[in-house]
Amino acid sequence: MESSLNSTNIDTMLDFEPVIGLEVHAELMTQSKMFCGCRVVDSVQAKPNTAVCPVCLGMPGMLPVINKKAVELAMRVGLALNCTIQHKNVFARKNYFYPDLPKAFQISQYELPLATNGWLDVERNGESEETFRVRIRRVHLEEDTGKLTHLENQQGSLVDFNRSGVPLLEIVSEPDIRSVEDARIYALKLRQILRYLGVNSGDMEKGVIRFEANVSLRRVGSDQLGTRTEIKNLNSFRALVDASNYELERQREILQSGGRVVQDTMGWSEARQVTYSQRDKEEAHDYRYFPEPDLPPLAISENWIEDTRSSIPELPYEKVKRYRRSFGLSTYEAEVITEDRSVATWFEVAIDSGGDPKAVSNWMINSLFGLMNEHKQAIDEILVTPNSLVALIKLIDKAVINNNTAKEVLGQMFESGEDPLSIVNERGMAQISDEQEIAKIIQDTLSQNPQQLESFLEGKEQLRGWFMGQIMRATKGKANPAMVNKLLSAELEAQKKGDPN
Ligand code: ADP
Ligand code: MG
Ligand code: ZN
Repeated sequence: MESSLNSTNIDTMLDFEPVIGLEVHAELMTQSKMFCGCRVVDSVQAKPNTAVCPVCLGMPGMLPVINKKAVELAMRVGLALNCTIQHKNVFARKNYFYPDLPKAFQISQYELPLATNGWLDVERNGESEETFRVRIRRVHLEEDTGKLTHLENQQGSLVDFNRSGVPLLEIVSEPDIRSVEDARIYALKLRQILRYLGVNSGDMEKGVIRFEANVSLRRVGSDQLGTRTEIKNLNSFRALVDASNYELERQREILQSGGRVVQDTMGWSEARQVTYSQRDKEEAHDYRYFPEPDLPPLAISENWIEDTRSSIPELPYEKVKRYRRSFGLSTYEAEVITEDRSVATWFEVAIDSGGDPKAVSNWMINSLFGLMNEHKQAIDEILVTPNSLVALIKLIDKAVINNNTAKEVLGQMFESGEDPLSIVNERGMAQISDEQEIAKIIQDTLSQNPQQLESFLEGKEQLRGWFMGQIMRATKGKANPAMVNKLLSAELEAQKKGDPN
């Protein structure tokens, strides 16, 4: 009796580690739907049921036609994720009933998906030494369903079929992720890649990306996977993190009290911050997948694959490496500049027009982004051009203006779109770099402040900075600081030796 109690105790003390596999659903940014000619419209702005036809409404006897653009966009994703593109693609019917799916089946891909066996290397905190690899099991095409809105007080539900038939990509990872934080970083990187590829806007509020997290726990050191649960329909990074943490904690409690996790499909209640079982959802074999009889197998030629490959832009992780290597940016700087493709392009135009990469990156990160935030403007909307930022930096290099003035000038450039030199000239902001003029201001400042000078000469060293401040103030910040520093030091040394100039 006693020995079995002991072994139970030891057992429950052994630690568990999370195992996570993610399924990511992403709408593709095509003009028209997956299997009909209906426009893809903004889910928030468009009036409900205005972009529909008999095909996407699931009327009997209607024939679907594959959207070539959707296949191309999906292929881009498969290639960016290092997958093999399959030459033979088969669409399949996934049968289930739901009010947002009037034909009672979704056209998806099952046994022969578009892309298989890829991977994505993800850097934690942008540190190349801390990379983890997530293998991609498959990337396949399907169609989205309609959208239900449930009325308050169970007054009924409304259905909008504008979304019905919108091309949807599903990206399924292997269970290679070992923490909720890694799952978040992987999902973020994936979204960034989709945006770079121009296949998805990444606009989470519009529901264009949704996650499903498969989570389980296993004993540290074991190579056997534990039983997983699957959390459906997570539509923000916050929900992905909170739901996964909640579910892992729930499983941990079960396992530590000697119980067993039951394989299940869960929902996430945002309001109550809990997962709940959706046991009514069927297992895979209940979908009764079979090849879609209305669509012939889709053949993808090697040529088409290579054409698509050549249309793929430089990806964020490739840019980060290049910016570090060729431009000497830190990992942090490279990550911030490449976060958004338009920002990276803006930066590259500045470098191409002769800007020093480090200086351009500093001005963007430390000043320009602040102004953009303040004015709620994206990089394609601002009046400052890459060229004009480079011109501003050159004015600093040539000592026409100092750093502080340059910040002011950038503010003006942001407001008016004027070029920096005109702003400097019009407003008389040029730096004072004339030695005689500065020497005179130093003399005046010292003679106007005899007490401070005396204290300084008695050893109060910190007054040096105070004098510096007074002089800058007297010149409205326009004096060349290096020159003031040099001349002031010389003058104060001379005063110490009782030998004023
Ligand atoms: P289904 O087709 O029923 O959704 P799959 O076996 O295809 O099931 O797996 C779907 C997802 O679940 C994949 O992302 C996979 O990585 C993940 N997964 C599978 N087993 C586990 C597990 N034990 N723990 C965590 N995730 C898992
Ligand atoms: Mg699944
Ligand atoms: Zn339609």
